[in-house]
Amino acid sequence: MTTRAYNFCAGPAALPEEVLKQAQAELLDWQGRGLSVMEMSHRSDEFVAIAETAEQDLRDLMQVPDNYKVLFVQGGASQQFAQIPLNFLPEDGVADYVDTGIWSKKAIDEARRFGNINVAASARAQDYFAIPGQNDWQLSKGAAYLHYCTNETIGGLQFDWVPQTGDVPLITDMSSDILSRPVDVSQFGMIYAGAQKNIGPSGLVVVIVREDLLGRARSSCPTMLDYKVAADNGSMFNTPACFSWYLSGLVFKWLKAQGGVEAMARVNHEKQRRLYEYIDSSELYNNPVSRSARSWMNVPFTLADAALDKVFLSGAEERRLLNLKGHRSVGGMRASIYNAVPLEAIDALIDYMKAFEKEHG
Ligand SMILES: *Cc1c(COP(=O)(O)O)cnc(C)c1O
Repeated sequence: MTTRAYNFCAGPAALPEEVLKQAQAELLDWQGRGLSVMEMSHRSDEFVAIAETAEQDLRDLMQVPDNYKVLFVQGGASQQFAQIPLNFLPEDGVADYVDTGIWSKKAIDEARRFGNINVAASARAQDYFAIPGQNDWQLSKGAAYLHYCTNETIGGLQFDWVPQTGDVPLITDMSSDILSRPVDVSQFGMIYAGAQKNIGPSGLVVVIVREDLLGRARSSCPTMLDYKVAADNGSMFNTPACFSWYLSGLVFKWLKAQGGVEAMARVNHEKQRRLYEYIDSSELYNNPVSRSARSWMNVPFTLADAALDKVFLSGAEERRLLNLKGHRSVGGMRASIYNAVPLEAIDALIDYMKAFEKEHG
């Protein structure tokens, strides 16, 4: 018998057990066709149906308006950092970026290779523990777009509001909080997310882009990086990440069965509430992020004495609480509590943290 541990990995992250079981059941023989999804032509009726169903389910879950394209592309969220300016920033234009941590900073550094980037706001002055309010942002006149990251996966800093930029399209990296709570897609020019946090396996990026923004890519933009090419070809200009796409589709079905994004938001709210409440009440653990900007998905915390980190982690592993080690750049701990991490996992983590505090606090 296999026993699944509770997995708090930041990414690639936990997947719903039901989804893995279904993939396992279908692995050798998908729906009586005598082959696995990994072995199908991406042009076959079977795979095209898998792909279209996944897209429709995602559209339903996020209520994506009809004037948006949904793309399933590759290269990770990191490739989007280059792809965005290549598609939307004219060579003599300027784009606004908001710096709230490591991922938005990476997006800024990459975009700078392609043009004039204005950092309209930075959380650096607040040690990345709070998000500067929009009144303090220095927006450019006539910016091609504004880019920000809704949830900083490493710092555990999340927007609970949407910037207002008038006609300037908002482009946002939702890699680690897409589908965790409702969003109004119509407020965005483009949303993108690497799959391996809150969607499915790695190798796939979901892009939701407003149609009128397509067709603006620079002439030097590689064909494969032009969103219009992906859109015109149903994300099959070349061979897509078929298995990741299929598995993500199973996750979308699972999300629908859970009651959709609103239902996930209720559970996610409770998960983060219990964990932060315990951290705040304890003497041993600390999370420094200002309350209104605390992430629902990634909860970094430190122990009062870093010498206890190793002991904490090995005790956690003994209890089958996996991947709690913080990002190598910041240390400490981090519990990533995406959609597929159930409330029971949070309770098991808190039980362990309490017992550990009793022993070492
Ligand atoms: C993980 C992550 C990325 C990078 O994703 P890759 O698919 O590894 O390129 C970018 N942005 C955010 C917010 C992330 O969490």
